[in-house]
Amino acid sequence: MKQRKFTLEENEIPENWYNIVADMPNKPLPPLHPGTLEPLGPEALEPLFPKALIEQEMSADKWISIPEEVRDLYSLWRPTPLYRAYGLEKALDTPAKIYYKYEGVSPSGSHKPNTAVPQAYYNKMEGVKRITTETGAGQWGSALSFACQHFGLECDVYMVKLSYHHKPYRKSMMNAWGANVYASPTNLTEAGRKILAQDPDSPGSLGIAISEAVEMAAQREDTKYALGSVLNHVKLHQTIIGQEAIKQMEKAGDMPDIVIAPFGGGSNFAGLAFPFLRLNFEESRNIRCIASEPTSCPKLTRGVFRYDFGDTGGMTPLLPMYTLGHDFVPAPIHAGGLRYHGAGVIVSQLLRDNLIEAVAHDNVEVFEAGVLFAKTEGIIPAPEATHGIATVIAEAEKCKKEGKSKTILFNLCGHGNFDMKAYDDYFDGKIVKHELSQEEINASIAKLNTPEIPS
Ligand SMILES: *Cc1c(COP(=O)(O)O)cnc(C)c1O
Repeated sequence: MKQRKFTLEENEIPENWYNIVADMPNKPLPPLHPGTLEPLGPEALEPLFPKALIEQEMSADKWISIPEEVRDLYSLWRPTPLYRAYGLEKALDTPAKIYYKYEGVSPSGSHKPNTAVPQAYYNKMEGVKRITTETGAGQWGSALSFACQHFGLECDVYMVKLSYHHKPYRKSMMNAWGANVYASPTNLTEAGRKILAQDPDSPGSLGIAISEAVEMAAQREDTKYALGSVLNHVKLHQTIIGQEAIKQMEKAGDMPDIVIAPFGGGSNFAGLAFPFLRLNFEESRNIRCIASEPTSCPKLTRGVFRYDFGDTGGMTPLLPMYTLGHDFVPAPIHAGGLRYHGAGVIVSQLLRDNLIEAVAHDNVEVFEAGVLFAKTEGIIPAPEATHGIATVIAEAEKCKKEGKSKTILFNLCGHGNFDMKAYDDYFDGKIVKHELSQEEINASIAKLNTPEIPS
């Protein structure tokens, strides 16, 4: 029997997170205070985040040890399996070898608990009682609800209104873990009321929901805020994915030539790719790492590299990143959790330095890829993950054309069992190609009055 699944023992859960900043040739530029435009000191973030996470956010230490309580809860679903995709290889009739790391085995069904658990843990350790957050497709809100429940914290989730109505069971899931869920924009916050005054039927966006959650956290002593993507400490926590994958690829007697992951704010991409980039830095390997984004929200492939706000309201620090502009509201189509206007700071710097690559796929192409994957490998991928699969298929077809065998590894960062509405829309022909015109992108970027970064 051919070996399909490569597993690790519980005691092989990594003991450290890997901080790629230590190895980067050009360090990321500092975040700026939105008022003074001076580099931001750690104290500016203290109303929002516990000190331990701020320290990680700014750390240049290469390895950061994972607390025992966190590893203990990780062991509920980690180490996650790594599979060889024989079914997909056969369907594509490709000489390429395809592997995937499967993060859908976590309680909430994606990679998000990898960071939700340590974030809840550090908040608990510093005496916080409640965490506020936003959620788009619902993956992050459910992961944080699960983690807060475990550590006895209250959790308030601002859920993008469009998803709130499209994904009622994500809300139920958060409620089952004891969280309060609000459809954003709400009337509860200044930021929400401002949007509703302009557009009472606003479908919401991640940027708006972030503004609401940040506002609520900033107002209360016992409340902090948590983010499920974009920030350095979030990417750091996700690096357990790639560290496990390296061991599993060794067990398979193989090593990837190409590492692929879907891209929203960059956390699952970072989680899989950064430990492989470490091999590039340390051992001068040449592993290509490719981020896959939707053509409907193409910040990496068509955005600008400059300082921008993390939210729509312009309340967060200014971050140096690839962005479509913080006012950018993606068309209400199913790019699921990939609808964020900006990319994380570290990933942005890596892309600028040509150490990683980015590609974009349209909606129809990714659902075709997702359905092919479900038919050949059994697991129904989260709609976000289908972007990565579309890139895998493109690379595997290149291998076939060139008659070359390459090893491809991708991150199946979540299952799509709560996303069948999106699949139904695809089956009903309601998912259409969507490409932004250059005018739309220019208009959004022209509104930016944030500092430019000289090239
Ligand atoms: C949140 C999410 C994403 C996008 O966020 P990243 O930070 O880019 O990983 C992608 N896939 C799934 C399944 C998600 O839950």
